[in-house]
Amino acid sequence: MWLRRFSQIGILLLFIGANKWGWNILIGNLSSAYVFETFYLSDPFAILQILLAGFILGADVLIGGLIILLIYGIIGGRVFCSWVCPMNIVTDTALWLRKKWKLNEIQFHTPINRNIRYWVLFLALILSVFSGVAAFEFVSPVSMLHRGLIFGMGFGWAAVAVIFLFDLLVLKNGWCGHVCPIGAFYSVVSKYHWIKVQHTVENCTDCMECFVVCPEPQVLKIIGKKSGSINNGECTNCGRCIEVCDDKALKFIKREKIIRRNENE
Ligand code: SF4
Ligand code: SF4
Repeated sequence: MWLRRFSQIGILLLFIGANKWGWNILIGNLSSAYVFETFYLSDPFAILQILLAGFILGADVLIGGLIILLIYGIIGGRVFCSWVCPMNIVTDTALWLRKKWKLNEIQFHTPINRNIRYWVLFLALILSVFSGVAAFEFVSPVSMLHRGLIFGMGFGWAAVAVIFLFDLLVLKNGWCGHVCPIGAFYSVVSKYHWIKVQHTVENCTDCMECFVVCPEPQVLKIIGKKSGSINNGECTNCGRCIEVCDDKALKFIKREKIIRRNENE
């Protein structure tokens, strides 16, 4: 967890440093960052919305989006959510307080379907086509928070507060696990990434600690049943399950090892 916080806060500091002290490591924001004043890294979901809205983007920004798509889609999976996104600190804080104040019992009687986020994603893309603006970028609380922390927060605090209270009082992992279309986008494009969590059933004692800490417990279907990798793109590769597993039944593994293991079986 400390590594993740180091990554999230470190990346944020690099953006703030560019604005306040003239650092040239990461200039811009999460939608598009100019790296070492040499090349761009861009948010592929934002690019998709902008293109659907009918705008034309420069080749450097498009290449920047492709780089990010390849890094997350092929290598790291949905690591944006657990290692980069500043909203994750807000929602993790709400989750921590939920547990501390024993608010976990407060839930809707009917469990909210986690697939809502895919509908929000779909809606964001369709609205971009018909409205002529990048629909979710227009209202994205993630962008509001990130831009606000770098350039100064206006009414963005209200959006962040709503998400914090929603996660704290209404639904556990409500925003990131049920609503956010950015997480949904990276879940869709990250299905075949290389770095995955591997489960070894021989070491598993069925304590289910991993289920308790996992922000996306539906991805842990194989726990206690069979050895294999967590292949669901909704896994954020946060490593929380590995951290709590005292039986060494979970670890990160690279794709080549997964393939070799499958060939040996
Ligand atoms: S689901 Fe959305 S808000 Fe949550 S960490 Fe991912 S991008 Fe950020
Ligand atoms: S399976 Fe593990 S790495 Fe994946 S989201 Fe759950 S806790 Fe994080």
